[in-house]
Amino acid sequence: MNAEIIAVGSEMLTPERVDTNSLWLTDELNQLGVEVTAKHVVGDQRDRLADEIRRALEHAELVILSGGLGPTEDDVTRDAAGLALGRGQNYSEEIGSGIEERFRRMKRVMPETNRRQAMVIEGAEILPNDRGTAPGQWLETERGALVLLPGPPYELKSMYAREVLPRLRRVAPPMAIRTLTMRISGMSESALDEAISPIYTRYNRIVTTVLAHNSDIQVHFRARCATEAEALGLLEEIGPEIEAALGENIYARTADPLEVIIGRKLKATGATLAVAESATGGGLADRVSSVPGSSEWFLGGMITYSRRLKTDLLGIPAELIERHGAVSTEVTGAMASAVREKTGATWGISVTGNAGPTTDGNQTDGNQTDGNRAGVGHFFVGLASPRETTVTHRVWPAPDRMRVRAFA
Ligand code: ATP
Repeated sequence: MNAEIIAVGSEMLTPERVDTNSLWLTDELNQLGVEVTAKHVVGDQRDRLADEIRRALEHAELVILSGGLGPTEDDVTRDAAGLALGRGQNYSEEIGSGIEERFRRMKRVMPETNRRQAMVIEGAEILPNDRGTAPGQWLETERGALVLLPGPPYELKSMYAREVLPRLRRVAPPMAIRTLTMRISGMSESALDEAISPIYTRYNRIVTTVLAHNSDIQVHFRARCATEAEALGLLEEIGPEIEAALGENIYARTADPLEVIIGRKLKATGATLAVAESATGGGLADRVSSVPGSSEWFLGGMITYSRRLKTDLLGIPAELIERHGAVSTEVTGAMASAVREKTGATWGISVTGNAGPTTDGNQTDGNQTDGNRAGVGHFFVGLASPRETTVTHRVWPAPDRMRVRAFA
């Protein structure tokens, strides 16, 4: 079964509000094997919304609307749905007196406008709202159903769980959607797609989604089959093929981010980590320490942004910095070894770089004189282990300060 979701409300067409109901609903529907094929945000205009509902009903068996069920003039969802289906509305005494009762309990008089919320589209089943005044409506259509839910997420979630889910279980043919997630680091989105597209395009029952955030990429393979066993079987087939194509670039087969995976490995081996940061200004320590329980393996570190602190705190010889520049393989390696030795950590990580946006000395890694040797976007990551120290040099092509730092 395919579904479309329509979020109703002009506020979601402003920069201030975003439609989160559809994200939540999509997750719920996917668990039932219902695929969301389109979603829309429509303002509080009755005729425009009626058009959108008609169009959605042509494309999808299930259409879910959220919002616009309130009592005011701009709450147009009931009217628009009635128009789209060519059905009238009747006043429900039962709902009307229920809303009146709710106001009485709150020691308030029900405004006359609230009567609008007791209007029911012909043929609709009422979905009681245990958390607010606006009831929802369930309308069976020729191909499936049209569902009206209230906008406030707190009301919508409860109504979905109590009223919609049991009905959907009756009308949605059994389907299973199962997802395999992989997290990838150290390659660009285009290089990744080049490597895996020859594989995933052979599986027409798997939908592949690539979500890239700086250098961290998640790939989701969603198998949609009649049974769970079939879906899992498909994922067990594609998984090893993808693994063979990407090798060590895959760092997790779950949705856990890099810092969680690293933390788990450190904890399992009883090892610890310390960091020496320049260009990232504490961003690495922030990310690492955001993991719950990180105190078991993260000792801390130093933000040696200026050349002076690299020398004073970490003991990097001024002469080394002078010779190679602060943003260099030599200095970055020395920083990683130094922080490891000074803190007694098993591993030391250091970061230097030139985040830009200009090559002006003040913008370059706290280094007043020689940061320009490594251009904007260049950064170095040092890794000191008990055995050796290695340094990786990477370049982020776009001069975007925050992204360069996140990438580093
Ligand atoms: P009410 O009876 O409260 O008026 P309603 O069904 O008319 O309910 P709306 O007036 O459209 O709902 O929305 C009420 C509030 O719910 C909005 O101000 C917004 O904060 C939230 N809301 C509405 N739609 C969404 C959505 N799609 N995603 C997230 N929040 C939403």
